[in-house]
Amino acid sequence: MLAEKLRIPVVASGDLFRQALEKQTELGKKAKLYMEKGQLVPDEITIQMVLERLKAPDTANGAILDGFPRNTNQAKALDEALKKQNKGIDRVIYIKVAEEEIIRRLGGRWICRNCQTPYHEVDNPPRVKGKCDRCGGELYQRADDKPETIRKRLEVFLAETAPLIDYYRRAGKLVEVEGGRGSASEVTRKILQALDR
Ligand code: AMP
Repeated sequence: MLAEKLRIPVVASGDLFRQALEKQTELGKKAKLYMEKGQLVPDEITIQMVLERLKAPDTANGAILDGFPRNTNQAKALDEALKKQNKGIDRVIYIKVAEEEIIRRLGGRWICRNCQTPYHEVDNPPRVKGKCDRCGGELYQRADDKPETIRKRLEVFLAETAPLIDYYRRAGKLVEVEGGRGSASEVTRKILQALDR
């Protein structure tokens, strides 16, 4: 929704890994070992992959990074790489949602294999079960959206990613939005309002 409004592409590190996995590339096979356990893929693989993606012409006017950076080392590498190109991070959106609600949302999540549009079996079901409203693609549940893997991912978030909240707050770039209640479009509206401020 944000990408459509802001007219810039989404670059999601998790999507890049899942595409590599589907194509059975070496990168995909390596990443799978970590993804299925809910752990972070090593920085040397992740940073290079995302920076490579950001060289594509569709990101010339910017991009929404989703899932990257996930730790301070990745954030610093990103800052350095962007600085060399006279670019930088404008804003970092921190969507705050309680842990139990995250588990409920991920547990009921279905994603389109073709266009990545997410659905929720209760909050936002597709018109036809198992089929994407937008493109008719097949919907699937991620292997790491199982309760035990979700809990591991939350642990990893607290230990490795949460320090970035302060990192970007100190840089004056953090935008905090309550995401625990309301529909996806309501939260999107809140994000756009916060970005305008
Ligand atoms: P996501 O789609 O963002 O939830 O990511 C799914 C999985 O891909 C994560 O649990 C990690 O195993 C891996 N992954 C995605 N982004 C990163 C990243 N920036 N650094 C390390 N691992 C990542």
